[in-house]
Amino acid sequence: MPATPPEAVLVWFRNDLRVHEQAALSAALADGRPVRSVYFLCEDQWDSHHVAAIRRWYVLESLRELGESLARLGVPLDIVEAGSFRAVPDMFGEYLARYSIGKVFVGREYLRNELDRDRASAVAATALGVEMQGFDHGVLVPPRLLSTGQGRPYTVFSPYRRSWQKWLDSHGPAPLASEKRKRGTAPVKFEGHRIIDNALARVAISPSLSAGWQSGEQAARDQLKSFALTSLAGYQRQRDFPAIEGTSMLSAALSAGTVSVAECWHLARSALQHPAQREGAECWIGELAWRDFYRQIMANFPQLAVGEPFRAETRFIQWSSDEALFQAWCEGRTGYPLVDAAQRQLVQTGWMHNRLRMVSAMFLTKNLFIDWRRGEQFFMRHLIDGDFAANNGGWQWSASTGTDAAPYFRVFSPVRQSQRFDPDGEFIRRYVPELAEIDNKWIHEPWKAPNPVSGYPAPVVDQAGVRDRVTAAFRAAKEIMESQ
Ligand SMILES: Cc1cc2nc3c(=O)[nH]c(=O)nc-3n(C[C@H](O)[C@H](O)[C@H](O)COP(=O)(O)OP(=O)(O)OC[C@H]3O[C@@H](n4cnc5c(N)ncnc54)[C@H](O)[C@@H]3O)c2cc1C
Repeated sequence: MPATPPEAVLVWFRNDLRVHEQAALSAALADGRPVRSVYFLCEDQWDSHHVAAIRRWYVLESLRELGESLARLGVPLDIVEAGSFRAVPDMFGEYLARYSIGKVFVGREYLRNELDRDRASAVAATALGVEMQGFDHGVLVPPRLLSTGQGRPYTVFSPYRRSWQKWLDSHGPAPLASEKRKRGTAPVKFEGHRIIDNALARVAISPSLSAGWQSGEQAARDQLKSFALTSLAGYQRQRDFPAIEGTSMLSAALSAGTVSVAECWHLARSALQHPAQREGAECWIGELAWRDFYRQIMANFPQLAVGEPFRAETRFIQWSSDEALFQAWCEGRTGYPLVDAAQRQLVQTGWMHNRLRMVSAMFLTKNLFIDWRRGEQFFMRHLIDGDFAANNGGWQWSASTGTDAAPYFRVFSPVRQSQRFDPDGEFIRRYVPELAEIDNKWIHEPWKAPNPVSGYPAPVVDQAGVRDRVTAAFRAAKEIMESQ
């Protein structure tokens, strides 16, 4: 009689592509039974969510590094081509049966499609008598844990941040032991290269775009260390100036989970002990709090995942349908130098500085009065860090349709923002070569220069009157809602 294979345990990887500070992997390795791991590759899902080519490249190459790291630990990683999330539960059930899996360890995800996938997968596991254990290692504070005095989810950031901080001070995650191969387990061979190569061939990314980035866990952890050494202390002072590398540039790593948010938090927390670093570390921890804030918003208000605005009355806003203006914004040809430099940075590098994301998003939604959902999608098509919760949160903040958003009458002046945050036009000149030689005096408003700049457009809209138009449109939307 053939011997029954020993029962194994499984780690299901998603946006947590790392071996360090990976709670599901740690628990699986501690279990005692042989460990396997799986990743369901869902390219149709990527298509329907407009995931950028650069992000696909980042995930696939990070997956390759993960496969090799796991192989050294003696854990095989299987990449299963599932197409869409809908196909996953059945394939998951088959996988559990094929490999005699007794228990699954998995990082929780909180978006609508992900929750549907996970509920159906849990049913498949239960039918086979397989236990599943979830971990919240993608966030610092689990999304439904904190609530206001009235027992409701937080929708305003400042009180959320206070409560978030308090919870972390007493319950914050302890650092996990570093992962080591278990005694008696031999390294294995990672077999997923062909699937990754084929998927990369479908991505067809220009090599000049990916050349600017390093994928994988090792690069992400190195980046974290280098940020802590060079820029964390000055983070608060420098983070708003796009010409300076003053931020961590860890967003791609945090959204794909090649670095653990807990590791980031531990590092920043220890920096709080050093007076020279305290201010920067405090401020940076605040950004990690924004990350959790938008994740808990998505978990508590799932309608946001299907294009609904948070503020119901803004559903009635009559956005402009001017295609030429939208194209000018997409291509960085609005005639406003900072907005154009921002858009070109996004398209050329796959990333945009946070200050510029706000400036550019506000310009699209307030100055051009174009629907925030179009901008949200355009960002997703280009961002290496495209992250549904943060992107949706950022867009709804800028468009004043979201939770704790900028008030609708707050409109950034693209010229004033440019003068404040790129005073000498250093950043603008980097991405808008047409303005490379222009005198500093005209860099923010080239249309005022005595001689027109060749090849650079005049402003596509006038800044004057924007605030009044926006105010009128928001008031009209409110009246429509009240009259219904
Ligand atoms: C319109 C708009 C769209 C955005 N889209 C995304 C997106 O798709 N993906 C994404 O990760 N961030 C997004 N952000 C937030 C922010 O711009 C980026 O996280 C940040 O620019 C990334 O650079 P960094 O890693 O150097 O950040 P740092 O300043 O070093 O911050 C550290 C980390 O904190 C998190 N973080 C920082 N700011 C925010 C924020 N406002 N909201 C949520 N998390 C934050 C990120 O994970 C970031 O990597 C968006 C913001 C706006 C205004």
